[in-house]
Amino acid sequence: SFTLAIVGRPNVGKSTLFNRLVGKKLALVDDQPGVTRDLREGDARLGHLRFTVIDTAGLEEATDESLQGRMRKLTERAVDMADVCLFVMDARAGVTPADHVFAEILRKRSAQVILAANKAEGRAGEAGLFEAYELGLGEPLRLSAEHGEGMSELAAVLEPISEQFAEREKLAARAMEDAGLTPLTDLDVDEEPEEDESWRPSDKRPLQVAVVGRPNAGKSTLINKIIKEDRLLTGPEAGITRDSISLRVDWDGLPMRIFDTAGMRKKAKVQDKLEKLSVSDGLRAVKFAEVVVVLLDAAIPFEQQDLRIADLAEREGRAVVVAVNKWDLEDEKQAKLKDLRESFERLLPQLRGAPLVTVSAKTGRGLDRLHKAIISAHEVWNRRISTAKLNRWLIAMLEQHPPPAPGGKRIRLRYMTQAKTRPPAFVVMCSHPDLMPDSYTRYLVNGLRADFDMPGTPIRLYMRSQS
Ligand code: GDP
Repeated sequence: SFTLAIVGRPNVGKSTLFNRLVGKKLALVDDQPGVTRDLREGDARLGHLRFTVIDTAGLEEATDESLQGRMRKLTERAVDMADVCLFVMDARAGVTPADHVFAEILRKRSAQVILAANKAEGRAGEAGLFEAYELGLGEPLRLSAEHGEGMSELAAVLEPISEQFAEREKLAARAMEDAGLTPLTDLDVDEEPEEDESWRPSDKRPLQVAVVGRPNAGKSTLINKIIKEDRLLTGPEAGITRDSISLRVDWDGLPMRIFDTAGMRKKAKVQDKLEKLSVSDGLRAVKFAEVVVVLLDAAIPFEQQDLRIADLAEREGRAVVVAVNKWDLEDEKQAKLKDLRESFERLLPQLRGAPLVTVSAKTGRGLDRLHKAIISAHEVWNRRISTAKLNRWLIAMLEQHPPPAPGGKRIRLRYMTQAKTRPPAFVVMCSHPDLMPDSYTRYLVNGLRADFDMPGTPIRLYMRSQS
């Protein structure tokens, strides 16, 4: 089913409409996921239609001067959560400057808007009804929330939208099944999915980190430094358990299991054996890890071996943080950093957006930055985006840059949903997925990364046909 947001300036009758649709006097649900205190959410019935309705009425009583700003934020939030927006204006008052402000938000952010002129019972508000056209949101629907007029007209407008969503959901479910993907079942169209926190690192489930890089990059030094910091906090040996391939620490409150590829390598005696071992160890560590820290030596960054292991981490779908070590030895830090960023872009385009942090494992400088980067890369790796948001985003992307028509065949992108996390993977339902040029897929992936702020994680995008 779909989600309808009722938006508009204060006092146009949003709550009255909300209550009529939900059929209860009080429907404040503030313990539901994704619903702030200021947003009311309820199950609406209108004729045979069932949908979720969100109301931004919570602020109508507020009188402080920041009302405008808060109301705007709240409206934007509701719009982002919804599939369809019902913009309500007061037909008796006519169009006000505030109406224009809210209408603008909708034009920018909402995929589908229905315009309603409320308080128009009988012949009241006829002038306002005509004025409503100037909002540029199409033909207004004449409503009286108070008297229940115009409700069947509203149902008639919502009917095809409801069908469209039901159809889309069916197609998406089928396409994902065909593709062997399990849909995130708790990812309903109208749900803000951030509430599931089970992926967050805890004592039971420490964050799995691999520190990889060529020999002498400073992996052991870095790991020892982290252990030392932990010991400073928790006493000489407390909290640290080491087995042959990993060790468990709490790094600044972050329960973490580090795969220690350096430790294993040190056991190898012969030089050429050493090289071989560090690659396969790296490989194993990458497979175990959630976040891979690619540790580079600032003096010789982006060696063949570094590139190989970074590429491997991407292909395995791990979150990646690139750390440039021995930063204490660099003089021209500013220029060097610029260089590094350029090389990074050029040599590892597949890791575009991964954080690059400079550290000194020896002195400990920059380790706080590394700590933060690891946490946020892990968070992004687990990120879920609601279907409603994705589809609104997709429509904007298609408008900005329509998909190509190879050989005169127009590729139609119809619907998008997130299939999984760790790393985030998305399915786009389209016609002729086989004809989709890589450049367009890249356009969408880069857009996702930028618009939903997802640095440091691979993003998978699958094109599927709907038949
Ligand atoms: P690994 O092979 O990646 O485990 O590298 P090691 O941790 O054994 O370090 C290799 C060498 O680099 C050692 O001599 C370290 O003392 C030195 N080293 C590691 N990190 C730093 C750093 O941040 N600054 C400086 N100046 N030297 C470092």
